[in-house]
Amino acid sequence: MNSFKHRRIVLMIAALVASLQLATAQGKKPNVTILATGGTIAGAGATGTQAAYTSGAVTIDAMLAAVPGIKDLANIKGEQVSNVGSQDMSFDILLKLAKRINELAKSNDVDGIVITHGTDTMEESAFFLNLTVKTDKPVVMVGSMRPSTAVSADGPLNLYNAVGVAADPKAKGRGVLVVMNDWIHGAHSLTKTSTTAVQTFMSPLRGLVGVATFGKNDFYSSPEWKHTTQSEFDISQVTALPRVDIIYADLDMSPALIDASAGGGAKGIVIAGVGNGNMNKVSVDAAANAVKKGVVVVRSSRVATGTVGRNVELDDDKLGFIASDELNPQKARVLLSLALLKNREPKELQDMFYKY
Ligand code: ASP
Repeated sequence: MNSFKHRRIVLMIAALVASLQLATAQGKKPNVTILATGGTIAGAGATGTQAAYTSGAVTIDAMLAAVPGIKDLANIKGEQVSNVGSQDMSFDILLKLAKRINELAKSNDVDGIVITHGTDTMEESAFFLNLTVKTDKPVVMVGSMRPSTAVSADGPLNLYNAVGVAADPKAKGRGVLVVMNDWIHGAHSLTKTSTTAVQTFMSPLRGLVGVATFGKNDFYSSPEWKHTTQSEFDISQVTALPRVDIIYADLDMSPALIDASAGGGAKGIVIAGVGNGNMNKVSVDAAANAVKKGVVVVRSSRVATGTVGRNVELDDDKLGFIASDELNPQKARVLLSLALLKNREPKELQDMFYKY
């Protein structure tokens, strides 16, 4: 064999080995499914510098096309579950989403799941999924504060990092996570704190679960509350949730809204109370009356951080109220809606607020 021919064969073998190695490496990549629901991350404006835009205008395929290198992190499949701004997220969509996650998570072909979602109600949806999905596999929510067409859109890197977390075995068993602006939050503790800033999500009481930097993750903690596989909530047969209203307390509050809610068919009322879950005397009386009619009243707080304690300024034992502990009003509403799928004694309901 002449030396030219020999060199060609060696090169061909080398190319074959390289392509086989690539195929093996690709075979080892985790499989991540992205479930898209809409939000600003899928939003589009007419120019890159205008504040006005339409949420939920871009599909999952277009979002993925805007993130260079994302396919090196994982084999990615996308599904469009809805395409709404999260102000229009509903329990109907969430039930469908939770059921789809539970189905996907059972498959050996799925290692992690990412959900793209608007930021406005991301905390409620994250908490709902935290209580209703039954898997240890990473379930990671992500959104953005700027639409996909904006200068310095934050969506592409957020999505990249979310896929990086969903593909990471270290993310397993930590409940539903939210990845935004390099931070990894637990569903129980995060809350939206700024209407417009990119660094909007904080976990004021408990801090971060970890950080995600260009697909590399550091985990600091695991949320303590019961979630996912340890949660007792089974939504497999559920098609609707009981009505629970949130009523905002303030100076010289009128009790009329509490009366209207209790009289209008609410099964539960969450008070976004002043301070440590307080309200004025006339409203306490209205809420106590609602309890007598069988409505469950949970005291939460309109204050951004801190806990609402039982029997502190109000005698919850006597009035029949539940204290929300660490849950803000919007998350207290999610927990109460799920809890009221069954009849439960006040003590059991109170324990749920300590446990979840
Ligand atoms: N209104 C948008 C939404 O929640 C805001 C966002 O995604 O940041 O869908």
